[in-house]
Amino acid sequence: MEKQENKLCCRVVLFPHPYIGHTTPMLNLGNALYSKGFSIIIIQTTLNSSNSRTFPNFTFHYIEEAPLSSEAFASLLDPWETIALLNTSFSGPFRDSLFKVSEDDSNEKEPISCLISDPLWDFAGRVADEFNLPRLALRTGGLLAFVVYDALPLLRQKGYFPLQENDPEAPVLEIPPLKVKDLPSEASHVALAAVIKEAKSYHLGFISNTFKELEGSFLDQFSRSLPCIPIYPIGPLHKYSSTCTDRKLNEDHSSMINWLNTQAPNSVLYVSFGTIAAINKEQFAEIAWGLAKSKQPFLWVVRSKLVDGAIVNDDIYPEDFLQTISGRGYIVTWAPQREVLAHPSVGGFWSHCGWNSTIESICEGVPMICLPFFGDQKMNTLHVSDVLRVGLRLEKELERQEIECAIRRLMVEEEGEEMRERIAALKEKAHSCLMEGGSSFKAMDQLTDHILSFLCAEKPRR
Ligand code: UDP
Repeated sequence: MEKQENKLCCRVVLFPHPYIGHTTPMLNLGNALYSKGFSIIIIQTTLNSSNSRTFPNFTFHYIEEAPLSSEAFASLLDPWETIALLNTSFSGPFRDSLFKVSEDDSNEKEPISCLISDPLWDFAGRVADEFNLPRLALRTGGLLAFVVYDALPLLRQKGYFPLQENDPEAPVLEIPPLKVKDLPSEASHVALAAVIKEAKSYHLGFISNTFKELEGSFLDQFSRSLPCIPIYPIGPLHKYSSTCTDRKLNEDHSSMINWLNTQAPNSVLYVSFGTIAAINKEQFAEIAWGLAKSKQPFLWVVRSKLVDGAIVNDDIYPEDFLQTISGRGYIVTWAPQREVLAHPSVGGFWSHCGWNSTIESICEGVPMICLPFFGDQKMNTLHVSDVLRVGLRLEKELERQEIECAIRRLMVEEEGEEMRERIAALKEKAHSCLMEGGSSFKAMDQLTDHILSFLCAEKPRR
């Protein structure tokens, strides 16, 4: 990654959240800012931490005395509980780290212009204020979900909750084209309200891993509901640098790529449900037989803890499944996803529609089957299937016939071909928005000026 000639002589501190889907875009943002001339400091927990050798241009400060072990972190299955626990555990250690970093500041080093944090951390903004450090938020997910979360109090007032499960197709008139089935369950509302409150406290700016051509109308809605917060849609962040932020870079994936090389163009369905989602044994068996019955080649990521939170071994596969798919199915515990999606043999992605997976698929022009699990995934699914029409969603409980049928619709039928054409056009837009004069290119320039303006403003010292 090249740093621009005109070094900007100031440092930006980034504080990623340890969920991989949050760490990766923050590191990619680091690459983007580095390319603009900023020096980058990363304050990281040791949970899921990235390999600093992959980022020789960044300075890493690790919160070594982790109040939560990696094993304990990995065993937590409920995302909202995990987020709450991380927030109570890391507030003090983060303050100490920021203190150390700001001590360096007074040591004739380049000044620190701001902190960029993930709003999942509910204390980072407060701590930055204690240090009189300007702060910006990085929204790692899509904007439609944010708009919906922000509207939840209104939607509650309008009587959408408790959810009318007998009428899932009813429109949510306040946020077209949202339907009742897309709304977040009530169990998550308290946690979502906390995230929204934190995000809205970042008055100086909101950086978003999206681009105008992808979420234009939701960008407008965001600006209407938060008129005082400047927003910088500078995505797709992973396209700023060829530096791979994949934490498992060292694993040998050459035999998998060799297998992909033997497959026909656009013939392989890539199946992966991200880094957090979990299913039970019955669902796993339905997926397995759906894949087998579709008769399409597939590459399936069966990650450790995917099934009932257990370590994966061959015993979890239904009887005869592995023999049935021999030669046609390839199973791994982790895939270099962006490389896989860019492979010419891959013609479809069965995804949980995490935002990173969604935007990575769009950037490579790969249409999707959407199986949302929690959080923003339902809203991302709506965006992919109903707004962009580049994917289809599985509507019912996981069931092998429906899966088989969805795979064939996407991979061999006309419907899938049309989606492939639509997503190819979006791929072009994802590419051109980063080129000189493109929407994200301009937003990145504005963000750079904004960050530099913090240095000119008089900053009271602690
Ligand atoms: N990922 C990967 N290989 C895998 C599974 C996931 O590289 O086998 C990466 C994927 O490319 C994406 C991230 O992990 O960048 C998952 O983020 P996403 O927002 O899609 O979902 P989450 O894991 O946060 O639910």
